[in-house]
Amino acid sequence: MTDFETVIGLETHIQLNTITKIFCSCKADSWGDPPNTNICPVCSGLPGVLPVPNKAAIQKGMLLAAAMHAEIQPVSHFDRKNYFYPDLPKGYQISQFDAPLACGGYMDLPLADGGVRRVGIIKLHLEEDAGKTKNENNRRLIDFNRCGVPLIEMVTGPDLRSATEAAEYLTRLRQLLRWLDVSEAEMEKAHLRCDANVSIRPAGADYLNPKTEIKNVNSIEAVREAIEKEAERQMREVGMGNKIKSWTLEWDENTGVLRKMRSKETEADYRYFREPDLLPFHISEAWKQEVLAGLPELPEERRSRFISHYGLPEYDADVLTSERSLSEYFEAAVKAYANDPKRVSNWVMNDALRMLNENNLTASQLKLTPQFLAEIILLIDSGVINNNTGKALLMKVQQTGKSPQALVEEEGLAKVSDDSAIRIICQEILVGNPKEVESYKSGKTTLMGWFVGQVMKKMRGKADPNIARKILEELLT
Ligand code: ZN
Ligand code: MN
Repeated sequence: MTDFETVIGLETHIQLNTITKIFCSCKADSWGDPPNTNICPVCSGLPGVLPVPNKAAIQKGMLLAAAMHAEIQPVSHFDRKNYFYPDLPKGYQISQFDAPLACGGYMDLPLADGGVRRVGIIKLHLEEDAGKTKNENNRRLIDFNRCGVPLIEMVTGPDLRSATEAAEYLTRLRQLLRWLDVSEAEMEKAHLRCDANVSIRPAGADYLNPKTEIKNVNSIEAVREAIEKEAERQMREVGMGNKIKSWTLEWDENTGVLRKMRSKETEADYRYFREPDLLPFHISEAWKQEVLAGLPELPEERRSRFISHYGLPEYDADVLTSERSLSEYFEAAVKAYANDPKRVSNWVMNDALRMLNENNLTASQLKLTPQFLAEIILLIDSGVINNNTGKALLMKVQQTGKSPQALVEEEGLAKVSDDSAIRIICQEILVGNPKEVESYKSGKTTLMGWFVGQVMKKMRGKADPNIARKILEELLT
């Protein structure tokens, strides 16, 4: 029995979050809009129109290329990819073929065994999206809203070795896309789509066998499941002495079954040629530097820095760098608190994060700003409020947008919560007046008013007399 390994390459289509489409001024994100309401002569392919490239799409592509360590090309071209399909009104897609935006690059995936899998990137190119077709009542309906939406197609080498690694790559890619603010990267909204090329070979071999391509998978979990099933199928086929054919398979998410769509096209079938309506675009060194100046510290670097600079455990660093806005929230809170980062991390991970998840917000949208969070922790540290009041205060600040200090004063939170301070004074009064205590205990309960008065006097009226009375009653029984 031969041991097989799975060889996987992923082809991702990433919807850039630009305001307008790639070659016209229609709105790029038309999710939920009625069909065919977000189109114009350019993106619906009427005769005589000319495409105008969207600079923002090119710049977002450059940012992603740089973050993937890819080489941004000084000159690149648009090409026509010709095929006939009802959702493609021009009969061709404007894409890039042999002179893409960027070539090479990689992403390093940490593996469970402590090693690293370097996933090579073959190329990144810009292209326009096609429309959408659907079947309804035995009719085929077409929606052109998505036509001309800017996409980056990014292709990895055959470098992934398991369905789990493929899922991990996509998880990290999604994180990076949001981090860079180049895509919303919501797979269920088709902002991030993935086709997987799968083949098998005897473990350790260095040649590639014929592969199949899995299309139409729209969640990371489904990618994992589809790849696992396809690798098992190929092993069964080979086990029975059959050859693997280069099929294109479609994933049916309702049944979890792969179906054969068609025999795979080869590049020659697309008759690529240069797009005659667009000039080649030149990316000067100056433009490149200007765009790359906006490249933030990347998730992996920030994660390492949180560990080395703040002394955070790996787990905390992972959670806090899962989203860029959360990592920025944490750093702002640490700065405002100017003390133990781990204490801030606990509050952010337990309390702020729960608030974000419950309200479906990002950290930058919280009314509980990092400065307010730090203020609450400081109020606890200085004994003005207790821990429980602090937790309740989080919600109040989030609801009202008022500062913790203002709320403490407004709602008398310090006074009410400060039972322990009142208790200390009560104890002092009782210890200092043994005679009165004795007569109270032997039945002279009218002395209660006098005791309360002593406590109020000592606390210069700041104590809540009801609480003082309750504590005194408890101490005197
Ligand atoms: Zn348009
Ligand atoms: Mn494509």
